[in-house]
This record gives sequence, C-alpha cells and structure tokens, in this order.
Amino acid sequence: MHNAALTSCGLKMQSARFQIAPDELDRALRLLPALGFIGVNLTIPHKIPAVGLVDELDDFARKVGAINTVRVEGEKLVGSNTDGPGFSRAVRSDFSMDLRDLRVLLLGAGGGAGRAIAWQCALEGCERLALVNRTIEKAQQLATELKTALVDTRVSAPVARLEVIPWEERALRLQIANSDLVVNASSVGMRRSDPSPLSASLLAPHLMVYDTVYARGRTPLLAAAAEAGASGSDGHSMLLQQGALSFETWFDRDAPVDVMRKALL
Ligand code: NAP
Repeated sequence: MHNAALTSCGLKMQSARFQIAPDELDRALRLLPALGFIGVNLTIPHKIPAVGLVDELDDFARKVGAINTVRVEGEKLVGSNTDGPGFSRAVRSDFSMDLRDLRVLLLGAGGGAGRAIAWQCALEGCERLALVNRTIEKAQQLATELKTALVDTRVSAPVARLEVIPWEERALRLQIANSDLVVNASSVGMRRSDPSPLSASLLAPHLMVYDTVYARGRTPLLAAAAEAGASGSDGHSMLLQQGALSFETWFDRDAPVDVMRKALL
C-alpha cells in the first residue's frame, strides 16, 4: 500500500520489508540515516523496545510507550504511534461512530496495540473503558497511567468508567453487557489454528466487534460475532489508516488513502 502511495504521489522511493531480530533492532535503526531511509514502520515484537532506542518521541508515543513509526530527521530518529489514531479513524469509517460515544471493552490491553488503543479511547473521552489482558498486571499498570485522562465525573453510575477485568468468562459476561464496542488487540487470531478470544455465547447482537487482527478470511472472533448476530470488522481498516498516517508523518502531506485501500485489498 505504501508503494502504491509513493507511485501515486510521484515520489521516486520504495517501501520494502525487513525481518529484524530483537537483538538487531538497535543496529538496524541506527543504519537508517546512513542508508538514506526516510522512515520505517515497526511491528511485533519491536514496538515497545524501540521506544528506548530512538532519539525523540512525540507526546502520544511517550504516553503509549510503544511506537510503530520512525521518521528520520538528519541523523535523528523520531518515534511516533499511528495505531491509536488509525484505530479511531477505522471505527469511524466501519461503524460510523466516534470513540467518545462508546463504552469500550479492550482485550489485549497490555500489548503495544492495546496500549495505543486504550490511550486513544481515553484521550477522546470514551464513555467507559474496560481493560482485559492475559497478564492482568499490565492492564492494572495501564489503568494507573490512564486514571488522570479518564476521570469519572458522574455522580453515580452502575459501573466504573475505567476498570480492569480478569480474562474470565463470568467477569467478561457482566462487562460485555455494559459495552458497545468489543476490541481484540491481543495476538489471538493471528495463527490459523487460533480459537476465538471470545466465544459466540459471550457476544450479543447489540455489539460492535473490532478485531485488530487481519487475515485473508474471516478471523475466529468475527466468525463468533456473526454467530451472535453482532456487527464486526477486521483490522484491515486500521492497517490502512495507521499506514496512511505514517505516510503523512514521513512526507508532511496527505496520504492518497483511496489508492492505498485499493492496493491493500
Ligand atoms: P504485542 O505487543 O506482542 O502484544 C500482544 C498482546 O496479545 C498482549 O496483550 C498479550 O498478552 C496478548 N496475548 C498474546 N498471546 C495471548 C494468548 N494466548 N491469550 C491471551 N492474550 C494473548 O503485540 P501488538 O503489536 O500489540 O499486536 C497485537 C495484535 O494487534 C496483533 O494481533 C496484531 O496483528 C494487531 N495489530 C493490528 C494492527 C492493525 O493495523 N490492524 C496494528 C497493530 C497491531 P500478555 O501481556 O499477557 O502477553
């Protein structure tokens, strides 16, 4: 999708993929200025470790503690995170809803994508945010960080505005009844053999289900959502939007989103 964008904008550059092992990341990033790169996207497992390896972070990336975009400025590497705003744009395009109007239940809140989505929800003032993570301590740590951004000003409400939930059926059932949007930001669903992170019996027709996983066919979570009569969307729209925002970060110009969408699909 980035090559299509480069061609469409008449930029004589190329985008390519590189497989970099965790212990090579520092050296690989440091090679970027000398090799004439204008920037890179980073994906699993580099988003969190890269935060400590770049020279500067923008405000959002500093809050999130994970980066997916690096821009080369002279000899300097500047880290940013387009996963959060990309997710927000994806929800708007797929469900015609703004995060500020939604009660969100987020699975995988401890990873790089989950942290970015949680911060985006908080900064847009979502109605409610329930954080779920296999390693619950990471969700608890995130909730501590988000507390000031998501202050509960309501006099009384049936459920707290910001909550950490154990990944257990009973707790999830109660929370899902108080949610509009269920998001999977865990890596469950990436492998063909993965089960759905939530069973269809936990889902309900009133829900919007967003799976950040993108696959050729329907992801296990979206199959469960369809079985439950819920509406669902997979991670292609987020992939597109975060990629468009990265393009804008590197080139200081609007991305040709339609061209990128066509190439991606
Ligand atoms: P990450 O930093 O490695 O985080 C992985 C997350 O998945 C953690 O919360 C981890 O929980 C959880 N997890 C892993 N295996 C699990 C299991 N068996 N059961 C329950 N939870 C499990 O990875 P990431 O970069 O955030 O990516 C996470 C997902 O987001 C991936 O599926 C990726 O495709 C998707 N993503 C999509 C886009 C897009 O544009 N569509 C962009 C970014 C990421 P623990 O904390 O307990 O390890």
